[in-house]
Amino acid sequence: MIFDGVRAQESSRRAGYNEISAGAKNINQINCSPILKWNSAEVFLYLLHNKILFNDLYRIGFNRVGCTVCPMSSDWRDSIGNDIFHDEIKELLSKVEDYVRDTKSANEIIKFVENGSWKGRAGGHGLINGGNRVVKKISGDKISFCFERKTQNWLDVCSILGSIVSCKDNVYTQIIGERQFQFRVEDNAVTYWSYSKMDRTIIGHLRGVANKVAYCVGCKACSVQCPANAFLIAADGKIFIRAENCIHCCNCINFIGGKGCLVAKSLSVTGGNRK
Ligand code: SF4
Ligand code: SF4
Repeated sequence: MIFDGVRAQESSRRAGYNEISAGAKNINQINCSPILKWNSAEVFLYLLHNKILFNDLYRIGFNRVGCTVCPMSSDWRDSIGNDIFHDEIKELLSKVEDYVRDTKSANEIIKFVENGSWKGRAGGHGLINGGNRVVKKISGDKISFCFERKTQNWLDVCSILGSIVSCKDNVYTQIIGERQFQFRVEDNAVTYWSYSKMDRTIIGHLRGVANKVAYCVGCKACSVQCPANAFLIAADGKIFIRAENCIHCCNCINFIGGKGCLVAKSLSVTGGNRK
């Protein structure tokens, strides 16, 4: 159970929250928001009346305190931030300029820095370890996922999707969504068939597993999302699925919009060259 300081006044999305919600943030968590209905004035009256210390940044105009540079911040907050953290922001912005120097003209760089485009997420473009590590290929009635890099073993992870019921000559038979599929694992690829029997959900889940295999660093976010205590990260960082517990709900894949892995979501690239 988490007690948080979320308030309805902070955003239209938060205005729709309940004071107590089970499973809204993640499946195993109850969120309690005791000051949900307090407005800002009530918060500061409470703090001042009770002589409770609070961050000085509120006294000079910040309405929220978090990261020095926030992709969601308003011009108002940026302006005050630039005044207070002038040297730090200047240093950061000069790094941003260096970063895009190869791809933009001098005028474009000024615009890019001033309009804050650089704060938007652009996936793994230009990052160490960034880029796509999995390529999907369809050939005949087979679908393959080819890995440029792996951090996990397919066989350790794929039982999320369903039980493996047999293995003969390196061909495994797996039940996924009450249908039977075969697959073969090679060093840097895995191939499933029959592709024609798969629906979009199964293909999406296979992609989610592939992303885990390619990117998982054992952050344990999936363990938190698992309702059956089946998703474990071993001491060596490897994924371990407790087969006897797993109910194949795929919550550990779906919780981040189907990507299957937070690291994959951060480091993969989706086209374009926004930098
Ligand atoms: S969330 Fe847990 S129970 Fe559901 S598929 Fe993943 S490991 Fe299995
Ligand atoms: S979110 Fe990614 S890195 Fe974290 S535990 Fe899940 S698969 Fe591993």
